[in-house]
Amino acid sequence: MATADDDVLEEYLDVQDSDSPAWERDHNKKRCPDCGGLHGLDASVCTVCGWQPT
Ligand SMILES: [Zn+2]
Repeated sequence: MATADDDVLEEYLDVQDSDSPAWERDHNKKRCPDCGGLHGLDASVCTVCGWQPT
């Protein structure tokens, strides 16, 4: 349960920091904010649509 609370907090902080595009976190994955594709935490570029953080 504690880890679920942490995930919610991280997502909340991501929303607050919307000025700088970044990966969204989904448990132990990164989610591309552009196409919603899921990637490992070591991904630097979305292999689905080519998006990457600026
Ligand atoms: Zn993408």
